[in-house]
Amino acid sequence: MNKVYEFITDILMPNRCPCCYKVIRYNELVCKECIKKLPIYNAEDKTVPAGCSAVICAFVYKDSAKNGVLALKKSWGYSFAEYSAKILSERLEGCGAELITSVPTTKRKLRNKGWNQADVIAKALSKEMDIPCDLKLLVRAESAQQQHELHAGERASHAREIYSISKRHKNITDKRILLVDDICTTGATFSACADLLNSLGAKDIIAVSVCRTLKER
Ligand SMILES: [Zn+2]
Repeated sequence: MNKVYEFITDILMPNRCPCCYKVIRYNELVCKECIKKLPIYNAEDKTVPAGCSAVICAFVYKDSAKNGVLALKKSWGYSFAEYSAKILSERLEGCGAELITSVPTTKRKLRNKGWNQADVIAKALSKEMDIPCDLKLLVRAESAQQQHELHAGERASHAREIYSISKRHKNITDKRILLVDDICTTGATFSACADLLNSLGAKDIIAVSVCRTLKER
């Protein structure tokens, strides 16, 4: 893009930071101030969801990282998925994964909203790491309750009820798979989905999320 087009793009289609909504340049993903402030996750929580061999996260779910994930849920935060994919790919370097998939949403939600934020992150990570992406391995059934509305103890059984293997799934035997979601809270969703992928013969499952919630101290 030449300088004139860059200038016109910045004026006519101003790009905004997904974390603070400030106007940024057309080629920026997150503003410089937010990049400095993003709460990097340093594996403070050592718990690996059952059924997974590891869990890799980019940020702690708070402050500007929380704003970024919320923007992604509302559609205009795609650049936050791209930025997070860069951080995650550095953390996953040399992991040997052969396939990327995501935690699915319901058909109705996908139809009404138009996208699943976990799919958006999975696709961004697939592009960043040059690893193929298959978003049709698992399905999520309709449920009266949202996973985040449940207590920690109820989440595991609920997650096992709502996720299942897609009838159209491809062969994943002996593949190391990155299972992507936006937020890891109790790890119950990752566990339920990882068990399903393991039952299909996957070699192992690495849980990957943009944010991880930490217990209040
Ligand atoms: Zn910002």
